[in-house]
Amino acid sequence: MSSEPENELASVIASAQELVRWEQSLGGQGFPRSERVAPPPASIDEVRASEAIEDSEARLQVLAEQAANCSRCELSKGRSKSVFARGTSDTDLVFVGEGPGYHEDQEGLPFVGRAGQLLDRMIAAMGYPRDGVYICNVVKCRPPENRTPLPSEAAACAHFLIPQLELVQPKVIVALGRCAAENLQCVPPAGRWRGIWGEWRGIPVMPTYHPAFLLRSPQFKKPVWEDLQAVLGVLNRELPKRDR
Ligand code: URA
Repeated sequence: MSSEPENELASVIASAQELVRWEQSLGGQGFPRSERVAPPPASIDEVRASEAIEDSEARLQVLAEQAANCSRCELSKGRSKSVFARGTSDTDLVFVGEGPGYHEDQEGLPFVGRAGQLLDRMIAAMGYPRDGVYICNVVKCRPPENRTPLPSEAAACAHFLIPQLELVQPKVIVALGRCAAENLQCVPPAGRWRGIWGEWRGIPVMPTYHPAFLLRSPQFKKPVWEDLQAVLGVLNRELPKRDR
């Protein structure tokens, strides 16, 4: 081979052409063209927002692991699995229920039984994907016979609920049932509580009926739907168009 640079270059080009011809004879398309377009650079606010999301997800993960090993109250003794949350922490909407039932205790996820299926339909009717909201409970372990959590159990589990809500920082919280509304301190001292806006640490809270109650008393679905429409109004979200 010649040592002249021009000759070396010509020989490299000739080898490359030969390689392409050989690949084409095997059905190849030659050298691929680069079709990748560089993404537009993220703004500093976008970078900060995505770092904050990663940070709060990591902290929520730590809290979930602590809840799985928690023995702050007697409920821990009866649990199969602790039930921390489901959905995404990158959301404007959080639902807070009472406590896990049988199916939730088995699966380790909130609202996966019949009441959960109804809640999923309510979420879909609001125009959110099933996992586009964050769902958790006042207590993370199943109360025996699905009874309402005792105030001492709810107080012990506030150790998880409070940082959970602070890390997610939704624009609205929906309290499902009186127990959730009471524990978010959003039940007026007397009279009606459902549909009356409250506030938890600056976040608007809509207390409404629990889906398990709606399974027993479907006539109350209409007022609950009105509450959820009010929630969409505060979130500046339109009702999704329904297929006829
Ligand atoms: N009821 C609740 O309050 N929470 C669940 O996770 C399931 C049923």
